[in-house]
Amino acid sequence: MPSIMETIDIRTKSSFEIVNITGKVNEAIKKSGIKAGILLVFTPHTTCALTVNEDEPRLIGDVKNKLSELVPKGKGYSHDNIDNNAHSHILASIIGCSVTLPITNGRTTLGTWQSILFIELDGPRNRRVVLQIG
Ligand code: ZN
Repeated sequence: MPSIMETIDIRTKSSFEIVNITGKVNEAIKKSGIKAGILLVFTPHTTCALTVNEDEPRLIGDVKNKLSELVPKGKGYSHDNIDNNAHSHILASIIGCSVTLPITNGRTTLGTWQSILFIELDGPRNRRVVLQIG
């Protein structure tokens, strides 16, 4: 079975932002022509993350508030002496840099309320998401 790599470029607009990339991922799968298999979604950065959850504005706000509460900015972290973003690295480590999903009928297999969410933790920046399809 062939395996194809695609990339998605994202320009985030704020320091802490959650972006639904499900549509772009499904476009890339469609372009690949692969109808069934495994999809790896990976981001090659240390201060952003990926997860799968519901894209509902109030829930997104709740998630952002809770993450900020769990790992507040500027709490005397050693790494802040270098570039002042230790909280972003810590949250990225907790959430993770990849998700793996089944591909069925040429698209991601997700539950009704599930979306692939890219989480910017130290923006705004130009970000990249790598897809391994197949
Ligand atoms: Zn850093």
